[in-house]
Amino acid sequence: TTRVIESLALSRRPVRLPVALEHTSYDVVIGTNLISRAGALLAPVLPQKKVVIITDETVAALYLPTLQDSLRETGIAFRALTVPPGEQSKSLSTYERLTDAILEEGVERRTTIIALGGGVVGDLAGFVAATTLRGLPFVQIPTTLLSQVDSSVGGKTGINTRWGKNLLGAFHQPLCVLADVSALSTLPHRELVAGYAEIVKAGLLGSPDLFEWCERHGDSVLAAEPEALTEAVRQACAFKARVVAADEREEQSSNGRALLNLGHTFGHALEAELGYDGRLLHGEGVSIGLRLAFALSVRLGVCPQEDLERVTAHLRLLKMPASISDLPYSFRVADLMAHMQRDKKMQDGRLSFVLARGIGKAFTSQDVPAELVREILLEDGCTP
Ligand code: NAD
Ligand code: MG
Repeated sequence: TTRVIESLALSRRPVRLPVALEHTSYDVVIGTNLISRAGALLAPVLPQKKVVIITDETVAALYLPTLQDSLRETGIAFRALTVPPGEQSKSLSTYERLTDAILEEGVERRTTIIALGGGVVGDLAGFVAATTLRGLPFVQIPTTLLSQVDSSVGGKTGINTRWGKNLLGAFHQPLCVLADVSALSTLPHRELVAGYAEIVKAGLLGSPDLFEWCERHGDSVLAAEPEALTEAVRQACAFKARVVAADEREEQSSNGRALLNLGHTFGHALEAELGYDGRLLHGEGVSIGLRLAFALSVRLGVCPQEDLERVTAHLRLLKMPASISDLPYSFRVADLMAHMQRDKKMQDGRLSFVLARGIGKAFTSQDVPAELVREILLEDGCTP
């Protein structure tokens, strides 16, 4: 019977989501057991049957052999380069080691770089692909929920420097994205929750239907049920693809991609205050930040209180971080304010924020009084 069940799962057709941009278009393929079918799925889009896989040690141990077997079956030649897991690998030194290894082989213009891993591997491998020989073909096989719904769509690639995160980078669109939700079965629950926060964000900023879907099915997503994951990834990617198509290079200051930062000003301040050391995952900061952005919007009189209550209820029901006082660390208002001011270049005591007129109705404002932000932080459990 396990055979039958496995072959049924294998035969389930993946969902194909086209991403149409000005100069290129590609598919995000979403479904179960895609890594074991990667060779067949990728063969039609590869310019040459030759690839370099970039992955991290954790993901390599779990999924690299499956990917290699499927490439072998389709006659695709490969080589694999592995980096340590974690944000530290998005560095100039890792970039140099990877590009050296690739150039040493005498890479050709049509060799494809495949990113197998989370957002760290995707951003790093994407930047390697964008810059090596002024641009190699690129494929993403995202293995975290965050990378499936967020970082693998939109073409942003990059690495960190001592001056800050993602400061060296390029836009480089993939030939194809394979989002294999089966890979999420091994993802730690905290990472699943962090990725889910970006799905909730998409709903809250521009799609009331998506947020309603989350209210009905969020528990199944966090239980890693394949059907719920496939549908969540499909909706979130479709939403992000629409936003990206309208503003491919983040040239619109007020609408477009800027709105994707809903909840991120508060979230980044919390992450920065903890020194980006992994104690708070990005998505956990975003989860709290979403509620605070709605609380701030209510305080400014632009958002109904009941919408804030819906957001809070959803986060609480799924046991997601909703408040600064949920965290086992203490934060001082002045320290968080300092991060936000650095982040957003405060002018005349006023800050820029993504706010909401209600669920699914985000907008940007350059005009939020710092005093109100201080009050929100104090009420949420910060120390004066
Ligand atoms: P990550 O890549 O560090 O992955 C998180 C952890 O999970 C790692 O330890 C990894 O080894 C492990 N892992 C990955 N897949 C696994 C699996 N299937 N099973 C078990 N463990 C697995 O983190 P992330 O959250 O995926 O990505 C964060 C990065 O994404 C940040 O660097 C951020 O800047 C970037 N990002 C980029 C964009 C963009 O548009 N390019 C958008 C959002 C975030
Ligand atoms: Mg984010």
